[in-house]
Amino acid sequence: MSQEYFLEVRGLKKYFEADRASLFSREPRFVHAVDDVSFNLNRGEVIALVGESGCGKSTLSLLLMGLEDPTAGSIMFDGRDITHLNDHERKSLRRKIQMVFQDPYESLNPTQTIEEIINEPLLVHGIAKDKKERSGRVIKAMEDAGLKPAEVYLNRFPHELSGGQRQRVVIAAALVLEPEILLADEPVSMLDVSIRAEIINLLAELRITRQIAVIFITHDLGSVGFFADRVAVMYLGRIVEIGAVLEILESPQHPYTKALLSVIPVPNPRLRHERIILQGETPNPIDLPTGCRFHPRCPLAMDACTSNDPPFITLSKTHQAACLLLK
Ligand code: SF4
Repeated sequence: MSQEYFLEVRGLKKYFEADRASLFSREPRFVHAVDDVSFNLNRGEVIALVGESGCGKSTLSLLLMGLEDPTAGSIMFDGRDITHLNDHERKSLRRKIQMVFQDPYESLNPTQTIEEIINEPLLVHGIAKDKKERSGRVIKAMEDAGLKPAEVYLNRFPHELSGGQRQRVVIAAALVLEPEILLADEPVSMLDVSIRAEIINLLAELRITRQIAVIFITHDLGSVGFFADRVAVMYLGRIVEIGAVLEILESPQHPYTKALLSVIPVPNPRLRHERIILQGETPNPIDLPTGCRFHPRCPLAMDACTSNDPPFITLSKTHQAACLLLK
């Protein structure tokens, strides 16, 4: 494996059994939560996974964490196949790939002090030879997460902290294991607008100071601009477009990406674009449209789109070129 792609996801699928088509049917139907997703991640790189609720981005993060077993496809991490792991292997993987959850209020145990919360992963994974070493690691993780001086926070409880400070505790509890990838699932969506930028700045700093790769999962394409290196746009379980962040923001190719970008608020009226309001609801992931799954809502849909599905788009290929392949 090349050094640059230390995470390689190929053809990843996760189908959940849902129900049967009718009372008399024996055939189960499936929710196509993640459906043939491929991407690479470089060491220290930030990739944003963007899409509406239900597009599969959170299921994808659970697959990467080993918390769900894929239906098909493969995940290679640092040259090792981690697609299907036993409990022991999965535990050691968790040291390397840590998750930052959306809700800092729910992800912290209210009965533990901040020191106990951040120390716990070290005990679970049996890291550090004694209390002194654990204490040093806890303080370093807290300070790297912006909780300085750490001594001020060690004996406090989560309810004594602000929302931003709690999310820093969640990040410190991930950092204490010295992970190589942080999977941040909507890490700022529960926070006040005033502190969202602080947490995004912190993640941006960590990728430089600790060379951590970040998979930043968000429904808000507007929040990825200065932070991510690349963006992958997901729709109904698929990546429909992937590329360098500035190129995607300035020159989106896929009609779905264009629609997402068109509704981002822009303060300067001269820079505002015409809003593209997609018609209809997102289709049922159990009963996907034939052909391109975006065709019922696509302003550019052609007849061929109802029977053929284009490959996802990189910026070396315009969407028009991909669509021409349909003919
Ligand atoms: Fe729209 Fe057709 Fe392209 Fe799908 S393949 S995004 S329906 S133009």
